[in-house]
This record gives sequence, C-alpha cells and structure tokens, in this order.
Amino acid sequence: MARYDYLIVGCGFAGSVLAERLANEHDARILMIDKRDHVGGNAYDEKNEDGILYHKYGPHIFHTNSDEVFDYLSRFTEWRPYEHRVLANVRDQLVPIPINRTTLNELFGLDLKTDEDAAEYLASRAEKVDNIKTSEDVVINAVGRELYETFFRGYTRKQWGLDPSELDKSVTARIPTRTNIDDRYFTDKHQAMPANGYTAMFQRMLDHPNITVMLGTDFREVKDEIDADHIIYSGPVDEYFDFRFGKLPYRSLKFVHSTIDAEQFQQVGTVNFPSEDVPYTRISEYKHLTGQEHRQTSITLEYPSAEGDPYYPVPRPENQALYKKYEALADATKGVTFVGRLATYRYYNMDQIVGQALATFRRLDAARRVKRLE
Ligand code: FAD
Ligand code: UDP
Repeated sequence: MARYDYLIVGCGFAGSVLAERLANEHDARILMIDKRDHVGGNAYDEKNEDGILYHKYGPHIFHTNSDEVFDYLSRFTEWRPYEHRVLANVRDQLVPIPINRTTLNELFGLDLKTDEDAAEYLASRAEKVDNIKTSEDVVINAVGRELYETFFRGYTRKQWGLDPSELDKSVTARIPTRTNIDDRYFTDKHQAMPANGYTAMFQRMLDHPNITVMLGTDFREVKDEIDADHIIYSGPVDEYFDFRFGKLPYRSLKFVHSTIDAEQFQQVGTVNFPSEDVPYTRISEYKHLTGQEHRQTSITLEYPSAEGDPYYPVPRPENQALYKKYEALADATKGVTFVGRLATYRYYNMDQIVGQALATFRRLDAARRVKRLE
C-alpha cells in the first residue's frame, strides 16, 4: 500500500477542513477514511427517491459570527441566504421559540407593546436562582417555572433522557429569551445554506489530487495496514482508546424521513414538540431551508434514543470528568491529533468545528515550521 503523510479518520467538517488545508498548503498526501458510504459526516445531504433534498442526519442550518469561518467555506460554495424560524406546538397553539414578546402575547392573551413591557412581565415570573448550574436553573431564572414546564422540561427530558436539573446549564442556555419580536432561531451575523447543498460543498473541498477518500472503511479494521506519518482522528475518543476508562455517554436519534404529497407541510422550517405525550422532539421541512421548488415536500421527525450512532455528547460534570481522562491520554499520544465533536467530546455546532479545525491546522503548520528550522 502507498505511503501517506496523513491518515484522516472521518470525512465530516473536522476531517475535511484539515484534508483541504494540508493538501493545499503543505502539499501533503492524504488518505481519508469514513465508515459511512459518503462524505460530509452528519451534515450530509442528498435527494430522496422523489428528488427532494433532505438531510440524512437531521436538519443542519448554517450560522456563524465568524468572518473567518464564513469566508473560508465560501471558497467551496455559493450561499442561499436563510434565517431559520421555529414554532413550538404547546397548548394546541403554534408559538415562536425562542420565547419572545409575540410568544407571551399569543400564549397568555396579553398585549405587551414594548421590550420594557415584556422584560417587566418576565421579571414578574422569573424565579431568581443564585448559583446557576443546571439547564433547569438557567430557564427558571430567566422565565419562571410555568414557561419552563411549557417549553423546556418535556422537550429536554425526551431529547436527553435526563431531567434538565441533571444537565449542564450550557444545554438550554443555547436558547435565549427575548423581549423584542425577533422570531429568528439564530441571530448570528452570517446565516445561510450552501446553495447546492452540503455534500456538493464537501466534494469541492476534497477535490484535490493529493486527497484519496476511502468510504465504507472503519479505522478499527484498517489501522494496522495503513502507512501514514500522522493520524488525524475525528471519531469518538473513547472508542479510539478501546473504552479503557468506560464508555462516554452519547445521545442518539432515530430519523424518520418521508415525502408528503403537498407543496408545503408546515409554516416554518422546524416545529418543536415539547410535550412528553408525543415521542418525537421536532419535525423539519427541508424546502424552507433549501428553497427547492417541487410539487411534493420532504420532512424528518426526530425520535431521541439511547441506542444508535453517537450524535450528542451529553454535557454533565461527571461526563466531563471522564472525558478529561481520555483527553489526557489523547494529549500523550504522539502522532495522533484529535479533532471534532466526537473526538473532543463537545456539543459544538458546525461553524465551531470548522473554527476548531482551522486552529488545528495553524498548530500543525507552526510545528512544521519549527521542525524545518531544526
Ligand atoms: P461528524 O460530522 O460526526 O463526522 C465524523 C465522521 O467520522 C463521521 O462521518 C463518522 O462516520 C466517522 N467515523 C467515526 N468513527 C469512525 C471510524 N472508527 N472509522 C471511520 N470513520 C469513523 N450544527 C449546526 O451548526 N447547525 C445545525 O443546525 C446543526 N444541527 C444538527 C442536528 C443534529 C441532529 C445533529 C446530530 C447535529 C447538528 N449540528 C448542527 C452539529 C453538526 O452536525 C456538527 O457540529 C458537525 O457535523 C461535526 O463535525 P465533525 O466532523 O466533528 O463530526
Ligand atoms: N430545548 C427545549 N425546548 C425547545 C428547544 C430546545 O427544551 O423547544 C432545549 C433542549 O434541551 C435542547 C436544547 O434546548 O436539547 C438545545 O436546543 P437546540 O435547538 O439548540 O438543539 P439541537 O439543534 O442542537 O438539537
């Protein structure tokens, strides 16, 4: 078998950004592998049997405040401006989430006219928590128990299989509370979808004569056969070390995709279902995201699950402590760089992974310069 400068495990954002940088900037010879039969990792999209674009691993909406990340990805794709909006199905109503002034007015039949009115109303309901630690504390401190129970408790219990009081505050802190009527899910500076989809963007990133992609290839099965100077690993860190300290908990999802025989299924890209009476957490309709014109439409229901692919690292202090043990091992492992959501066990969005991979490249680049001086 040929010799490579790098073996990159995983063709998601982490692996693909590093492959592109190393091939173009260092003229490195790279072998990339993924156990799945496609590139793109969890951001992979494709047309379904009816010709409608959908995201195989659930809806992926690109948003970032980083000019560096946005400019970098813009080399590989045109963009379609898109601002995601989400409605929550609560008390037989569809109201905007994150909670904003409209949510309060519609849910409680109020007539809050200004930001100050809404801030005052929320302050009257909020229950101050002195030491905010958990995902329950964050929400109760901001909006009080009734709104917490309506929007957050059931959704979180389904999504994570844990009560919000058992999860780090960072999880529900992803969802802000607003006193204005901004009903966008994100407020980042850049919000857009790759004009021809994520997969097309990945194919452009990886289109380089020095990059060889081998799909359907599990690292565990080929690691002893590949001759590479350095490994970049973006799979689960606990798996790399044969679960030496025990399994890191991950939460999974089952995606149920379907085509609906109507031009539109729902008003917005995603509808959330906080009630525990419904087994899924949300329904997303891709045509809102992609702008595709088609006489039918594609949707995905997400059913949380303990079994299955590791999608979400579970942010809790005891899991972080276990990860720290793996991190120390990873740091001491010469010739292997760990990068990405699974290898660094962090609940990161796509743009954060691109940022992490670009920073990793800068470190590899600096190390190479030092080596050349020696
Ligand atoms: P991944 O995309 O998981 O890639 C890792 C790759 O490694 C996988 O393809 C896997 O098959 C491969 N691999 C693992 N082990 C092995 C092995 N042993 N051998 C070979 N290959 C292996 N982010 C956003 O910014 N916006 C969103 O709207 C958004 N929505 C999301 C919705 C869902 C349901 C999920 C799960 C995530 C969402 N994300 C979103 C997060 C986003 O998916 C991640 O930030 C990003 O895809 C992480 O990239 P990565 O390269 O680190 O990992
Ligand atoms: N969340 C909730 N109700 C909602 C939306 C979110 O309780 O209507 C909580 C839930 O714990 C979820 C977290 O906030 O896991 C983060 O939500 P986000 O939409 O960012 O989740 P992701 O898209 O990463 O799955």
